Amino acid sequence: MNSLRILIGSTPVGPLGSGIGGGVELTLHNLVLGLSARGHRVEVMAPENSLHVGQHTHHIAGTLQPLGHLAQRDEAICIPPHSVLANMWAFAREQQYRFDVIVNLAYDWLPMYISNTFQVPIAHLVSMASITDAMDDAIHERLLNAPFSVAMHSKAQAETFALGHQARVIGSGVAVERYDFVQHVADNAPLGFIGRVSPEKGILDLFHIAAVTKRHVKVWGLMQDTLCWEEARHSYPSANVTYEGFLPTDQLQAEVGQCAAVLMTSKWVEAFGNVAIEAMACGVPVVSYRRGGPSEVILHGETGYLVEPDDIAGMVAALEEVPALSRQKCRTHVETEFSTNAFAVRSEMWLREAVRQFHAVS
Ligand code: UDP
Repeated sequence: MNSLRILIGSTPVGPLGSGIGGGVELTLHNLVLGLSARGHRVEVMAPENSLHVGQHTHHIAGTLQPLGHLAQRDEAICIPPHSVLANMWAFAREQQYRFDVIVNLAYDWLPMYISNTFQVPIAHLVSMASITDAMDDAIHERLLNAPFSVAMHSKAQAETFALGHQARVIGSGVAVERYDFVQHVADNAPLGFIGRVSPEKGILDLFHIAAVTKRHVKVWGLMQDTLCWEEARHSYPSANVTYEGFLPTDQLQAEVGQCAAVLMTSKWVEAFGNVAIEAMACGVPVVSYRRGGPSEVILHGETGYLVEPDDIAGMVAALEEVPALSRQKCRTHVETEFSTNAFAVRSEMWLREAVRQFHAVS
């Protein structure tokens, strides 16, 4: 089959490698790896100072976009002066004829709004669940007029949008070979938490669980909200939770592999939860609230446990059952369902359909 010429637009909230873009950075990286390995020509456009990814990374100057994940429902669309988002999509417009399809990873109104003005399809991989009415409108318009052009990471994420069932669900993937499998850890091995330190990640619940279980919990991730961290520390002074910094993937996986389990205490609908498949790739079971993407990624009773949302006692009880789980099963599950190739196969099907349908209707 013909290979595709693909331009991927990164998130405009931070350079690739900064961690500000959260899971989108890893998703982009693995999408590029998977699609390139399948013979596609992939270029990336990303804010200045980004790591180099793909055949060519176009570094675009401009003011970074403010973070959207804590926006109020009625928040207006914000585009700062000398916007990197605007500059990225001006670049895409100018370069569009060199590509068969442009993939948008930005959770932003602008690329949605200008989709109709391009001569090549723009395929939107939506990275978060519904947050603001303005973004809901933009996504709704795409789902109504070009449903083939929208993909989500999980069904739970798609369900937060009107017409979300029209979107393709393509999951996510990781380069499993970059994660060392750890078969055995000591009974008293620490628990892990991987994610931005921010209220929607359930930091308060994490400290609560640590206090009740009296287990050491190690936290890796971007310290986005120090206030939220301090509040949790003061609320649960006996909790043995240590902040271990934000590590590059190679170092992160070496540390995470030594954990008995990884906890996910998200208060919002996690679109996917890349960290769940990263932990399982190391052989580490994941114990999570049954909310959002993790509920479709973790096999309850096999690769971890799904606990009713916000049920602290349920999380504590589930942690006691973890030693009975097979760490090998966690690894195998990621190898079969969430490798970069499995992710690329699903993405490729979606992109080919987006290209076909775009030309059929235009
Ligand atoms: N991450 C990392 N180093 C760390 C902690 C986290 O690279 O020390 C990455 C992790 O690999 C994952 C991302 O941060 O890709 C968090 O993504 P997730 O989808 O879980 O949540 P988001 O931040 O997008 O809400």
